[in-house]
Amino acid sequence: MMLREQLLDTARQLSELGLNRGTAGNVSVRDGEGFLVTPSGTPVDVMRPRDMVWMGFDGSVHGDREPSSEWRFHRDILLARPEIGAVVHTHSMFATTLACQRREIPPFHYMIALVGGDTIRCAPYELFGTQALSDAALGALEGRLGCLLANHGMIALGRDLAHATSVALEIETLCEQYWRALQAGEPHLLTRAEMAEVTERFKSYGRWGRTSNSSQ
Ligand code: 13P
Ligand code: ZN
Repeated sequence: MMLREQLLDTARQLSELGLNRGTAGNVSVRDGEGFLVTPSGTPVDVMRPRDMVWMGFDGSVHGDREPSSEWRFHRDILLARPEIGAVVHTHSMFATTLACQRREIPPFHYMIALVGGDTIRCAPYELFGTQALSDAALGALEGRLGCLLANHGMIALGRDLAHATSVALEIETLCEQYWRALQAGEPHLLTRAEMAEVTERFKSYGRWGRTSNSSQ
């Protein structure tokens, strides 16, 4: 499958998984000296492979359509993080609910470690599509594979499109679990030492699907 077909497939999958609705969210994938990104303001059911827009890291645009309004954070993340091959942005329900409370997700569940740290940070609010939002997101993503965006949604990163999608689904699941746990009171949190133990254990767990990593 061509890369632009894979990108469209991922955008469709995010919608089928219930992580995005309507024209919310966008996806990008690294492609040589630039990246392919979904077009702006277009529902997935009318997107075609040729609507995917190629952008150079210098900001040049090649395509018939306008790139996602969030091309700045897609570009800046791919430039700053050479180990990352794909970027997923969603307005999924539970991540967005907690992002509206500007909450950092604490280590209430060991799977938080899968996102790369002891918490999932929430980037400060900035207007969508701006360089300020990109700068805020980059800061919140430092050393992590995901973050919330205040009053907006979330960003998930991966070595490829499948990995970034699985991280987005995991963040949404954790946000739903945290939100539900909060309904019954304050959840107990894991300690720094317990989270360090999980991180260590993850190094030898779930190697399925990691073969694509070995070539990067
Ligand atoms: P685009 O349709 O321009 O990708 O914007 C959707 C979005 O989620 C903006 O934050
Ligand atoms: Zn958005």
